[in-house]
Amino acid sequence: MSERYARQVLFPAVGEAGQTRLAAARVLLVGCGALGTVLANVLVRAGVGRLTIVDRDYVEPSNLQRQVLFDDADAAAGRPKALAAAEKLRQVNPEVLVEPVVADVNPSNVESLLAGATLALDGTDNFETRYLLNDACVKHGVPWVYAAAVGAHGATMAVVPGETPCLRCLFPDPAPPGVLPTCETDGVLAPAVGVVANLAAAEALKLLLGARDRLRRGMLWLDVWTNAFESLPLAAPRSDCPCCGQRTFPFLGAPTTSYALALCGRNTVQVVVPGRPELSLSELAARLAAVGQVTHDEHLLRLRLDRYEITVFPDARALIKGTTDPALARALYSRYIGA
Ligand SMILES: [Zn+2]
Repeated sequence: MSERYARQVLFPAVGEAGQTRLAAARVLLVGCGALGTVLANVLVRAGVGRLTIVDRDYVEPSNLQRQVLFDDADAAAGRPKALAAAEKLRQVNPEVLVEPVVADVNPSNVESLLAGATLALDGTDNFETRYLLNDACVKHGVPWVYAAAVGAHGATMAVVPGETPCLRCLFPDPAPPGVLPTCETDGVLAPAVGVVANLAAAEALKLLLGARDRLRRGMLWLDVWTNAFESLPLAAPRSDCPCCGQRTFPFLGAPTTSYALALCGRNTVQVVVPGRPELSLSELAARLAAVGQVTHDEHLLRLRLDRYEITVFPDARALIKGTTDPALARALYSRYIGA
């Protein structure tokens, strides 16, 4: 066994057999921001076999205070987070197959991304994606670990479909938009994210090592500023849960039309066009050259206008910075990229 894992193999619950199990594991990480970079860092150093990192965003200077895999050069270049993270992680541990996917996780792709995964991890910043992930994981019997942090507090919970409560057992329906605090309204402290993500990573290792008897049952909530640690115990899945009890998965209903969504804390709206053919970024760059300042490479195109900055990905998805109004973002999208 490689010296790389020597201290972990010494831990009795891991051992040589556990290390072999980790090497056979395939993990899907949804979201690679503050929580996701910590989760990915732990799992790649621990030697999971394969880690797929899906993220829809690019690195900005305001990320660097807590998103531990990114540096100043990533932010200056505005690199896609999944690609920047994968490059760092390959330097950390070339034995792990790290697969970056620059995409929005939505009903049209969540089940194919999850196919073959041993475990899924929540590195998202929004409940829309968490309810989607919960539906997909319960439907396909894949364990996942919920994690969230804002301000100085955060929460985490492991979900083993059929064995432990799922997200909808605790919260049957998502809160309406604008009700919950976000990193934009409340800020976020790096230690809050780090503690929550590391606790989530510990549950992930237990799941990958088959130590389900050691899982924390229910949700842990903590605040690193007030030093409050609370458990919300829940022994078993609820039989009246619409997801794991009644097995209805409304969040998987695929959108047939394009949609626009304001991103948490970003003064940015994402426009997604499911099913649109791949864009040629170089053709688009030539077309937009007269409109504003355009830069592009094979991963993204960036158009700078007076009040807005539009980033376009090959899958025709766009991030429109400078507004939180979905209608305005859609109008800018059709004006510059085309309907
Ligand atoms: Zn449930």
